[in-house]
Amino acid sequence: MSALIETAGLCCGYGRSTIVRDLDLSVSEGEIVSLLGANGAGKTTTLLTLAGVLKPLGGSASVLGAPLRKPEPHRVANRGLTLVPEGRGIFYQLTVTQNLRLRERRASTVTTDEVLDTLPALRPLLARKAGLLSGGEQQILAIAGALLGDPRVILLDEMSLGLAPKIVEGLFVLVRSIAKERGTAVLLVEQQVKLALEVADRGYVLTRGRVTAQGSAAELRENARHIESSYLGDTTDVDVAGMGVAAIGTVHEGTRRYT
Ligand code: ATP
Repeated sequence: MSALIETAGLCCGYGRSTIVRDLDLSVSEGEIVSLLGANGAGKTTTLLTLAGVLKPLGGSASVLGAPLRKPEPHRVANRGLTLVPEGRGIFYQLTVTQNLRLRERRASTVTTDEVLDTLPALRPLLARKAGLLSGGEQQILAIAGALLGDPRVILLDEMSLGLAPKIVEGLFVLVRSIAKERGTAVLLVEQQVKLALEVADRGYVLTRGRVTAQGSAAELRENARHIESSYLGDTTDVDVAGMGVAAIGTVHEGTRRYT
């Protein structure tokens, strides 16, 4: 499996304000990787940097075989990365069809029909304004828009926001099948730890801008309760000692590998 995203000591932030430090992260073809963490941990900042929106403030990052050095979201998108932002990035006043038209790309070999075959729930809704869709339907529309670009990498920011767990489960099943069938690499930012770790292959936990735990989804799942509780109160570290898990390697102080 080749890594489509690879960072080493990456620092991300805004101007002089560094939010994420020393991030070593990789996402390979067909792999779903979860980036977990409390509000303000730096998850969206990381996605914006990988999408070429924010300039990396230190370290290195390679996305689809090319280094990221300066803001150039159009180049990153042309190489095959799509960001589905928090809030879904759809136009609420336009119909489903119009939203899809806007996302069609000449260079892409994927047609709207093919995307609708993958996401048949959208077919009966084509004439409806996106603002009148349910939250889950809007999220499916956002994913459909992303698929139209035939991406090799999808960054999904808080897909579950405002949705019932059952709907989120359905969406995650969809993401799983897209990764499996198309070999798309998915980096999934989530606050719902358990759901995210059910769909992911691997995960990283960000605490105040640093990775404090990482490993296979199965290994992180065993500690989901501890990870979730680290979202509340003092989040300087994930208490791995209390988890009864052998810490195999240490990347930074307070960082544990479960792989
Ligand atoms: P959430 O789960 O709440 O979306 P997050 O982990 O995605 O949180 P980020 O949105 O990456 O967190 O924000 C990380 C930190 O960066 C926060 O303290 C936030 O206030 C700060 N931040 C976000 N945007 C900017 C900006 N444009 N300039 C300066 N700081 C910012």
